[in-house]
Amino acid sequence: MKIYQYDKDNHLIFKSGLNRKILNKEQAIYPLNEEIFLEKHFGIEAHFSNSKPGALANTLCLNIFKNLFKTLKINLSLPPVLTIYTRNILIDRNNAPNFCIPDTREILKDDYPFPGRSIFFEKFESLQKINDITENRYNNHKVSSPHFLASFIHEWIHSFQLDNIYTKYGYGGKCEYLQKQYPKTDSHKSGYKILSELETKTLSNFENNIIYDILGEYATSSKYQYLEVFSETMTKFICESLKGTTFVKNPLELLKKTPKEFQAILKKVWLFQ
Ligand SMILES: [Zn+2]
Repeated sequence: MKIYQYDKDNHLIFKSGLNRKILNKEQAIYPLNEEIFLEKHFGIEAHFSNSKPGALANTLCLNIFKNLFKTLKINLSLPPVLTIYTRNILIDRNNAPNFCIPDTREILKDDYPFPGRSIFFEKFESLQKINDITENRYNNHKVSSPHFLASFIHEWIHSFQLDNIYTKYGYGGKCEYLQKQYPKTDSHKSGYKILSELETKTLSNFENNIIYDILGEYATSSKYQYLEVFSETMTKFICESLKGTTFVKNPLELLKKTPKEFQAILKKVWLFQ
């Protein structure tokens, strides 16, 4: 079932952030210009594969996070590489459609390995299509938000959480880009080691029932569950704070209104306990 409907003047209304203004922007955007803009002003290497929805969604994410960081008075390092790909150039076909790599990896055929914290999105023909897929997954209780940018925001949050971990604990792995950006710290465990421990760390059945109710099925899956719970939580509250793509609430205020049991799990996940 589609959530969008028509108003009395026969205008299309979306209930998950998408609106006519954004659809017009999608038509008008030049992905190549956005790539140049992101590199020049933010040092982000973007490969949008001429995808208008991919270019616009990521540019909107950048604005959303810039505004969020201003509100929360924090500053996190932006993802080094954004890539829109098609499945036939993917080395590992079993990958999820969108993903963020914690460490350097070969992702695309005939390409160099990418640095850790890079983000990949599968190419879709339009924001409307992405909107429909996301709404559908939300209605089936798979993901935490129906917002058309939710899957993009989710991956950006992974990249920011990795920045947070590597800044705090140092990196300590083989990726040259990350070695340069995150030198060793006094911590006895490196970020690399912490992530390898987190890969299989999971919550209890009792905790998973709460996670399922609030965030949906995806956050209960076992691989990197601690990172997924954090990302799905932030995605949910960021998206619920937006009208279209503009903040009208503070996500942390929404988080404070959640049940105590849920907050206890979040604390545990944040501290890797
Ligand atoms: Zn994820």
